[in-house]
Amino acid sequence: MSELVKTRAIVLRKIDYGDTSRIAQFFTEDYGKISAIIKGVRTGKSKSGLVIDTFNNVQILMYKKESREVQLVSEVELIKHYQNIGEDLERIAFANGIVELLSNLTVENENNHKLYLGSAKALGLINDPSRSAKLIFAKFLIFFIKEIGYEFQVHKCSICGKNIDEENAAALNYDSGIICSECCKDRLIHTEINKELFNLLFCLSDKKNDIQYEEGNLNKIIRILEKFLKYNIHEFKGLKSLEIV
Ligand SMILES: [Zn+2]
Repeated sequence: MSELVKTRAIVLRKIDYGDTSRIAQFFTEDYGKISAIIKGVRTGKSKSGLVIDTFNNVQILMYKKESREVQLVSEVELIKHYQNIGEDLERIAFANGIVELLSNLTVENENNHKLYLGSAKALGLINDPSRSAKLIFAKFLIFFIKEIGYEFQVHKCSICGKNIDEENAAALNYDSGIICSECCKDRLIHTEINKELFNLLFCLSDKKNDIQYEEGNLNKIIRILEKFLKYNIHEFKGLKSLEIV
């Protein structure tokens, strides 16, 4: 038996299937990542076809069956199309980065309401021409790492538990997290963290949105977090979307 459900979703990927159908991967609000077929959307009569496009936030009506790998979606309605993302290469790259993380590093059918809301919010902010797509992506990356269960504490040494500030922050170890200068002496260091990087990492983990930063440091943080993910998730080979920025 399948159950008819309605949920909001971000369109991650889409491919045409057969003569008139399309298969899409969605990150849904209530059921996590799912794949679904939408039949007949490529005929002139269907309104759903155009709305099934990467980054779009949509509402789907789905015949959901636990045992099925590809679900059946009968209706797709647009909630939000982010029209500015497509106008700028950097915005496209970072929005694609979000989609790539959701598509490759989340588990199918694993509900994460907060991750859906955070992802939709980040795409909305990347769509805002007055904001830096790179900064939003860096904040999203820290949020994402936490939501998939690899959070590292920024304000406490992961070995001795001592409070960390810019004076004693020294390194990031990909197994444990931030390490103070004292504990660094006999530990494996994966990445050294200087004062500036530590301060930026600290601000990015915070709720604030107005952050002073140097472009180069922000790039470094994104690369460090990407390496952290690669180290902890062996199947992850890095973000292809960011190769162009
Ligand atoms: Zn320590």
